[in-house]
Amino acid sequence: MTTALTQSLYVVAAVLFIVGLKRMSHPRTALQGNLLGVAGMTLAIVVALFQQDDYWSVAIGLLIGAIVGIGIATRVKLTDMPQMVALFNGFGGAASVLVAAAALLHGKAETVDSRTAIGVAGIIGAITFWGSLVAFGKLQELELFKQPIEFPHKQLANVITAVAMLVLAILLAVLDPFWGWVFVPIVLLASVIGVLIVNPIGEADMPVVIALLNSYSGLAAAATGFVITNHVLVIGGSLVGAAGIILTRLMCKTMNRSLTNVLFGSMDGKEYSTEDGIYDNLQITTAENVALMLEAAQRVVFVPGYGMAVAQAQHAARNLAKLLEAQQITVEYAIHPVAGRMHGHMNVLLAEADVPYDQLIEMDRINPMMDNVDVAIVLGANDVVNPVARTDPHSPIGGMSIIDVDKARIVIVIKRSLSPGFANIPNPLFAEPNTWMLFGDAEQAVLDITTAFSDA
Ligand code: NDP
Repeated sequence: MTTALTQSLYVVAAVLFIVGLKRMSHPRTALQGNLLGVAGMTLAIVVALFQQDDYWSVAIGLLIGAIVGIGIATRVKLTDMPQMVALFNGFGGAASVLVAAAALLHGKAETVDSRTAIGVAGIIGAITFWGSLVAFGKLQELELFKQPIEFPHKQLANVITAVAMLVLAILLAVLDPFWGWVFVPIVLLASVIGVLIVNPIGEADMPVVIALLNSYSGLAAAATGFVITNHVLVIGGSLVGAAGIILTRLMCKTMNRSLTNVLFGSMDGKEYSTEDGIYDNLQITTAENVALMLEAAQRVVFVPGYGMAVAQAQHAARNLAKLLEAQQITVEYAIHPVAGRMHGHMNVLLAEADVPYDQLIEMDRINPMMDNVDVAIVLGANDVVNPVARTDPHSPIGGMSIIDVDKARIVIVIKRSLSPGFANIPNPLFAEPNTWMLFGDAEQAVLDITTAFSDA
């Protein structure tokens, strides 16, 4: 294949990535956007294959990667998607480190430029890999990752580690003849930084961290593109890097945090999970009573959260909504940007249950209308409706915008117990005078309400 043809096909792949990304910005066109991205990546892989002298080793690598990827992706539950995304980000980082090491070993490090790219790929790749592994552990709620690593003069040690890593990277780039071996300590120091950066971050800030690591994995891929002089990898990596940074900014805005605050200021070891009698005035209700409240309502808003995903209650909620609509009751769904365990989690589930897009109302639009809502049904959500976010700036979710369900006339909270959500803090909403708790699995509870509503 000629160089001109190769570069032209890479441009076509890059255009497919860009148009695909654009189309992913709306639910109606997202599937098509995804397919365009897949087409672009397939084209880039085929063209890259033609550049190789040794097709077989690349094909074997592709086959192993495809088997592992398909195996994980088809088995993972939708509620575990963030863990999978964290692992895949980490694999991207690890691949960048390996490619950079291979370039060093195969004498592709003759110029200052190439050695700079090798150092950058090694640093970002190792930070991404180890940071993503720690993020995976936190999302999986593994005990090992729950406590922050503490030791004296930690911040000073972090700074010294970062400076030592950068000095070694500069030496790798400028010394002639170069010291290839310094790549090893560079990667080790970057690995330590990856662990130390992500380890202290509080649970409630994990959505920001996942977006940031996603961005790093893109930057690592872009640096690898410079190492092996592959333009489509530079473009693809930069797109992932830029998209990840934009998502990180959006997430920070939602959580009302600066990125510095997320990375360096969150988990302070304070215990927030004591209940201090806040549930003394709890009101517990039944499906039959909820059906009566719904009969008298004109406007009902479902507020879905992680529990809806666990119970797969979206189809039951949609069926109940259809019954309500048949009685001229307006039904909407309030969508919090970090509800569930991944960005867009609720949108995906509700779309799967054929909920019309125009009934999905983003938090900023629904909140000003909340005091006109007769019944708000909190379906397996907890942190995203916790008023502590407004009242206690020092809580793990302090300052985060929430769905103001407490302003609705009646609030029904459907969950199995009084257990806290992901941020592990109690929720005073449950004991508000206008709140009624309906304990049970989200799907079963909605089915019971539906039966009671139909029988009434
Ligand atoms: P939460 O994690 O705050 O709460 C979920 C609630 O669902 C729990 O309190 C649980 O209570 C209930 N639940 C679980 N299973 C069921 C079931 N079968 N039936 C009924 N209820 C059930 O979820 P939210 O969506 O409110 O908040 C998301 C949290 O996750 C935020 O803290 C966010 O920062 C974090 N996060 C979000 C990410 C994202 O990108 N969206 C990524 C990583 C973290 P019980 O056990 O009593 O039933």
